[in-house]
Amino acid sequence: MTQTSKDNIMELKYLLLFIAFIVYVNIVYLFSKLGKTREIGTIRLFIISFLLTPVIGLAFLISSNKRKMFMYKELSYKCDRCGFVFSDFHDNCPFCEKDGLFLKLRETEKIMT
Ligand SMILES: [Zn+2]
Repeated sequence: MTQTSKDNIMELKYLLLFIAFIVYVNIVYLFSKLGKTREIGTIRLFIISFLLTPVIGLAFLISSNKRKMFMYKELSYKCDRCGFVFSDFHDNCPFCEKDGLFLKLRETEKIMT
């Protein structure tokens, strides 16, 4: 093998590596667009996916919450006596229970932002 052909193989290796890199960046770029509707965002998802591969990026994407761009209603429970609103379900109002009253909580929709 001559020195020239050895150099050509090396060049080919670098070329393939370069192409693989371009393809990788494109995959990561397309993947990062999925982060647009999530709290993680496009840029952060791109950086994570680029450095830690899109497989790890996917885990971050799944664990990231959907971006809260609009108001949504959350089911909550209100006590009519003391007016306190609970986000968790209780059989009776815990505050009124202390006063010896067992009052059922009313289901309401709390508007979240
Ligand atoms: Zn109460």
